[in-house]
Amino acid sequence: MLKGIELPYPLNALEPYYSMETLKLHYEVLYKGYVDNTNKTEEKLKQMRQNGDFSNIKCLEKNLSFFGSGVILHELFFENMGPAIPSSPSLELMEQMIKDFGNFEGFRKQLIEASIAVEASGWGILAWVPRWNKLQVLQCEKHQNLTLWGCIPILVVDMWEHSYYLQYHTKRVDYLNAFWNILNWNEVNKRFSNAIRK
Ligand code: MN
Repeated sequence: MLKGIELPYPLNALEPYYSMETLKLHYEVLYKGYVDNTNKTEEKLKQMRQNGDFSNIKCLEKNLSFFGSGVILHELFFENMGPAIPSSPSLELMEQMIKDFGNFEGFRKQLIEASIAVEASGWGILAWVPRWNKLQVLQCEKHQNLTLWGCIPILVVDMWEHSYYLQYHTKRVDYLNAFWNILNWNEVNKRFSNAIRK
């Protein structure tokens, strides 16, 4: 069960750049709502596993992704703000920014423009892509697009038609039942072991 984070500063600490009124609403009402709803969703998923009735699975997986990503992004957001004391990217981060964005200004402009251009509700994000050893600026619509930010995949199964249609036609369940026979747990175990040590 998620408890949620404590704000690492008082509610008025970001004044005047981020008002106490806004932060109070954002943290005490909206953020806590995401924590509560993630916990409720986890509870419903547990009941679902226990009673074996998965008819509501699509809705619950969507809720898990939406509320859970809302929790994670807000925590990253609250924790990457702080009282207006001068700070700057480390030498290590700056070198990477220069490598990936040309210079700091290139990064800053891309983040600002990407954030402005987010359609409806969403986020601007600087992300580390371990697979590419590269920083990227991303937009996010809503909180999730059906993932949890920062997750490291441990086991994946391709559900695009190209991965099963020729053999299983529309019978995804047959494909998935067969999948267990060709699943390499040695690789999954290794990924898990690496992921939890990061
Ligand atoms: Mn928010």
